[in-house]
Order: sequence, then structure tokens, then C-alpha cells
Amino acid sequence: MKLHEYQSKTIFAKYGIPIPKGRVAATADEAKQVAEELGGRVVIKSQVLVGGRGKAGGVKVAKDADEAAELAQQILALTIKGLPVRKVLVDEAAAIATEIYFAITNDRAAKKPVMIASAAGGVDIEEVAATTPEKIIKVHIDPLLGLRDYQGRDIAAGIDLPREHWRAFGLIASGLWQAYSDCDATLAEVNPLVITGENKLLAVDGKMLIDDNALYRQQALSEMRDLDVEAPSEIEARRYGLSFIKLDGNIGCMVNGAGLAMTTMDIIKLFGGSPANFLDIGGGASSEKVAAALRIILTDPNVKAVMYNIFGGITRGDEVARGILAALAEVKTEVPMVIRLVGTHAEEGRRLLADANMITAETLADAAQKAVAVATGG
Ligand code: GDP
Ligand code: MN
Repeated sequence: MKLHEYQSKTIFAKYGIPIPKGRVAATADEAKQVAEELGGRVVIKSQVLVGGRGKAGGVKVAKDADEAAELAQQILALTIKGLPVRKVLVDEAAAIATEIYFAITNDRAAKKPVMIASAAGGVDIEEVAATTPEKIIKVHIDPLLGLRDYQGRDIAAGIDLPREHWRAFGLIASGLWQAYSDCDATLAEVNPLVITGENKLLAVDGKMLIDDNALYRQQALSEMRDLDVEAPSEIEARRYGLSFIKLDGNIGCMVNGAGLAMTTMDIIKLFGGSPANFLDIGGGASSEKVAAALRIILTDPNVKAVMYNIFGGITRGDEVARGILAALAEVKTEVPMVIRLVGTHAEEGRRLLADANMITAETLADAAQKAVAVATGG
């Protein structure tokens, strides 16, 4: 899960990382009001969940409140990399002397978090990484020991940070590590961390990615999720604990198990079809969950056939059948349905579905071929 800049910076501030004063605004008027409160120059920053906002015209400095309103108006009308700007962050503008890149992320190969820094921070960091990788310093962190003070100093020395900033930098490094670890983040990034005109370190931009698998124990963070940027069907699916990803094809899939869902999608493709979604109803799904899954699949107007591939183990065939019947009683549909149901209580399930006007299949290949045929009008 991605956090917005303003959310990430609020978290950083709790961990003692200095951030500019500021607040989010959803309209030009609000932006003007915030700018008046802050006084002086402000920076207007689009809050969209992509990088490179600066280069896309989504970050602009205003000299006063009137200009803030004007720029906020412009930025709120932008769509950046396909994402409409719905909010802007209005921050006190910083006078920037130096831009540093500073982040912690997971190094999968090393199986450890890694702290990454570069004196060549700012909007061109990707190019720095590609053309002059030696300008990027990395220090691995032992997750059990945590970040050691000397490691913060190693990074500071590695990027030739003037000594007068080492102490402040050390505190920022340990704050960032603590935030990263407490939040179950997979990325905590400050780009740029600037040295200001007053010779102070300041986190001007912030970005955090939170591990979705940890959200169950990150209540406060999961409530920060921006629902505006997700497909409504995916939000609904999450509410029911379904793993659902919308795709572009026309065969809706309902499968129990992620691996089986992948296989199902592959087999559909093998027979010339195209899946409309990935959907794992999980093990032991209740009929209520199955009904929700079917409703979600059928909200997609592209869906021309639904294919069920249920391999009963913990999941019971009769429960799945009851869910399908409940959903069909509620959602009237002409969409043809193909079902392959095997394993625990499969016979009972098939018996329940005998009158449901579904196409039954013996094997996965059989089911996929039938689904492709009906989806293409065969
Ligand atoms: P990003 O492009 O999405 O990474 O957005 P950033 O927040 O990093 O802003 C992009 C660039 O705008 C930064 O690298 C700075 O050069 C500039 N910028 C951001 N905030 C300020 C500010 O307060 N004052 C000044 N002068 N420039 C800023
Ligand atoms: Mn940035």
C-alpha cells in the first residue's frame, strides 16, 4: 500500500525527522488559506501516488497566497501519469542548497533492509542510479540489531556530508529506520532531504510503501488508504477478504487458491481466451464470501462468461454451491457459467447446482475450453 507524501511526512515527523510546516488542501481557496496561515513563500504539491510529480508540473513554488491559489487551481486540474490530482499539499517553501537522496528499503537478495543515500538527490535520482551508480551509497541493516549509530555516520561520510550535519543526520537516519520498522514498510524514502539556506536538514519530500501482508496489524495505517485511487471492485473485494485483481479479458474467474487461480488464467490463455480478473476466494470460503465474489465479477461489463475452478480441500463444494445459488438469486444474469468442482463435498455441490443452468466440466482443460467457447459466443 502506498502512502501519500503528506501522510508519509506526518509519520516521519513523529519519528523526529524535520519536515516543513504545511497542510493538505482540496480546493484553491483552501490552498490560499493555508498559504496565508503559513505566510511567505509556499510550495504547492500534487498528492498523487506516483513519482516524478515535479517533472510533470505537479510541484510549484508560489511567492504569496494569491499565487498559491492560482497554482493550486492549475495543479488540481492536472492528471499525472493517469491519476487525477484531488489534493495538494501546501508547505512552507524551503530555500534549497543541496538535495540528498535518502531511503530504506528491502534488499531481497541480501535478505536485509538496506539504507541508500546519494549526494546527487532530487528529481534525477533514477538517472544517477543508471549512469553513475558509484554516487549511491548502500549500508545493510541487520533487522535484529537495528540501525547502529556508526552506520548512520558511515552513510554521512559516504556522501561527503559536511561534519556539522552528522549529528542531525544520525537522528534522521535512526528516525527513518524506526519508522520503517514500526510501520512494516517496504520503502521509506526522503528525496530530497535538503540542506536549507539556513544550513539545516529538512525532509522536503516523503514516500512510504507499507507491506500489504502486515496491514492486519497496522490498523491506523490501513485506514490511511486512499480509496479514490483504487478500482471500486478491488475495494469491495478487500472488504470480504478476497484477493481480487481486475484484468482486461472477458472470462470472469472464481478460484480457491492463488496458485490455482494463476493456473486457471494460464489455461484460459492456452485455449485462446482472456481472463477478466484474478480472484482467489481463499481456503474455507463461506457462501457469503462466494456470493460477494460473484457479484464483484459480474459488475464488470466485459465479462462474457464465468469460470469456477474449485478444488475442494478445506473449501467445501457444497458451501461454494450455496454461495453461487445465493448470488444468482440476488443478481439476475444471462452470463453463461462453467463450473469445475472437485474434492471435498463436490458431489453435494453438484447436486445443489443441478438446476442452476450451469455448464459442468470434468477437468480444468475441459472447463477452460468450454468457457472460451461460450465467451466467444460459441
Ligand atoms: P517528486 O518530483 O514527485 O519527487 O516531488 P518532490 O517533492 O521531490 O519535488 C520535486 C522537486 O521540486 C524537488 O527535488 C525540489 O527541487 C523542488 N522542490 C520541492 N519542494 C521545494 C521547496 O520547498 N522549495 C524549493 N525551492 N523547491 C522545492
Ligand atoms: Mn521527490
